[in-house]
Amino acid sequence: TFTREGFQWTPTTGLQQGLPCEAVIQPPEIIEKPRQVFDVLIIGAGYTGLTAARDLTTAGFKTLMLESRDRVGGRTWTSHVDGYPFEMGGTWVHWFQPHVYRELSRYGMKSELVHCPDYSKKKNHFTFVTKHGRRDMSHEEEQELTARALGKFVDIDGNRGKTVMPFPFNSGWNKVILKFAHMSVADRVEQIKHQLSEEERHAIEAVVLVCSGGTRENSAFLDFLRWWAASNHDYETFMDSVMVFKLKCGQSAFALKFLHESLQTGNLSYSFNTVVSHVDSSGDSAEVRTNDGRQFFAKRIISTIPLNVLTKVHFNPPLDPSKVEASTLKHVNQCVKVHAEVKDPEMRSWSGITYPNNKLLLGAGDGTTPSGNTHIVFFGCEQNHLQPDENVEETLQAIKEFTPMDVERLVFHNWSKDEFAEGAWVWYRPGMEVKYLDALRRRQGGVLFANSDWAEGGWRSFIDGAIQSGTEAALIIKDELQPKKLNSRI
Ligand code: FAD
Repeated sequence: TFTREGFQWTPTTGLQQGLPCEAVIQPPEIIEKPRQVFDVLIIGAGYTGLTAARDLTTAGFKTLMLESRDRVGGRTWTSHVDGYPFEMGGTWVHWFQPHVYRELSRYGMKSELVHCPDYSKKKNHFTFVTKHGRRDMSHEEEQELTARALGKFVDIDGNRGKTVMPFPFNSGWNKVILKFAHMSVADRVEQIKHQLSEEERHAIEAVVLVCSGGTRENSAFLDFLRWWAASNHDYETFMDSVMVFKLKCGQSAFALKFLHESLQTGNLSYSFNTVVSHVDSSGDSAEVRTNDGRQFFAKRIISTIPLNVLTKVHFNPPLDPSKVEASTLKHVNQCVKVHAEVKDPEMRSWSGITYPNNKLLLGAGDGTTPSGNTHIVFFGCEQNHLQPDENVEETLQAIKEFTPMDVERLVFHNWSKDEFAEGAWVWYRPGMEVKYLDALRRRQGGVLFANSDWAEGGWRSFIDGAIQSGTEAALIIKDELQPKKLNSRI
């Protein structure tokens, strides 16, 4: 099966839209009794919606899931091209991410984890291109440089952030954090510039912008501190958590486990290619309308619509003004993720950074395809933004800025132009978390708002945050709709 999403380019085919994807669901709709009042209607089949659907259907609730795309997974999906899994969105997971690892374990998928870096091949080095020139170094030197630089970046308390943010799942644990809540990445770099060598500054900015997908000025320092704190305030754990372990079978195979378990209960109805346009929860039961003019009814709604597109849906009673403000401001992540298949198998051990003059910031050998080519994953951000579907030549040129390589294929999804996400994983603007997080998490009557974009903390913005958020929403609804059962157990 093919999804209409994503792009592939090869020198012979040129640019083509649409990619093979096992997460496309056939048949696209199963709704036996569309006029019934469902217990729960879930908008969105990303990890938040899938987790909520699984937890509610297995608890016996009649659930309807409506999804605008033709597939499950939302901002996380895999395309197998010539037998190799390219991750178009969410990719890396770690056992330090408690919610996602619990699910991997529950579905018997622990042995699916593979280790991405492989430093056993000949081109075993790191290329660092800055405005001062090009330098190849060993991976040990790269790690030493980056660890030292990031260590300075997060050291706001003489304890690498640990005193100020001891518990990332509740970032307000220590109120001193408020002093840093309005700080941008640029502000923090400015504060420590006298302690930094040029190389250290370039390393900090490149790595942090790959994390934020934004610009130096619009990316909150606090979000980086949270990632760091969730990684035990330690560079090695940080890297291991965010870019080392992925799934051999691909993320889509994982996402499908949730769907299949829900379907097995007989309690799940669903419709793909169905865009929700209106949510009306002013009456006894909530009503949802779709772009193609259909109406559905449910006792509760879980909206998993992401932050940057939340205001595209019309809510009655209207969305809380703070939600509207945050969604209108948008989070900053305009990450560009481009996969390249390159001819040289020795490149498997290579990685590099080009900053600040290139449209792609970071590249790393991430796998070997069945034909023996190296898969390299590249990242860019809003600063110096690239639209790969608009200009393949420019994309190839940006790749070659790292080091010469023979590109046989490009595979990518343009998240900036994605109408159901308008961006990648969440990264707040300075001050946004303290101003809007509580409001974003707040329910409105029978409508709950769940998404990784405003997960409680810790791994907000990750798959882990999505699973956490879906779990919490399902639990609230279970408690509300099943009070008698719960009471009789006590
Ligand atoms: P989404 O996945 O966005 O799900 C929301 C769903 O709602 C979507 O399917 C959308 O189509 C649907 N929807 C929206 N509007 C409507 C509407 N009006 N009607 C019906 N349906 C609608 N996380 C990691 O843990 N590790 C990583 O390595 C990682 N890398 C990433 C790389 C990229 C390029 C991107 C984009 C994300 C990455 N993430 C990563 C983040 C992770 O993918 C997300 O945090 C997670 O998938 C979000 O899940 P969600 O269910 O909360 O939201």
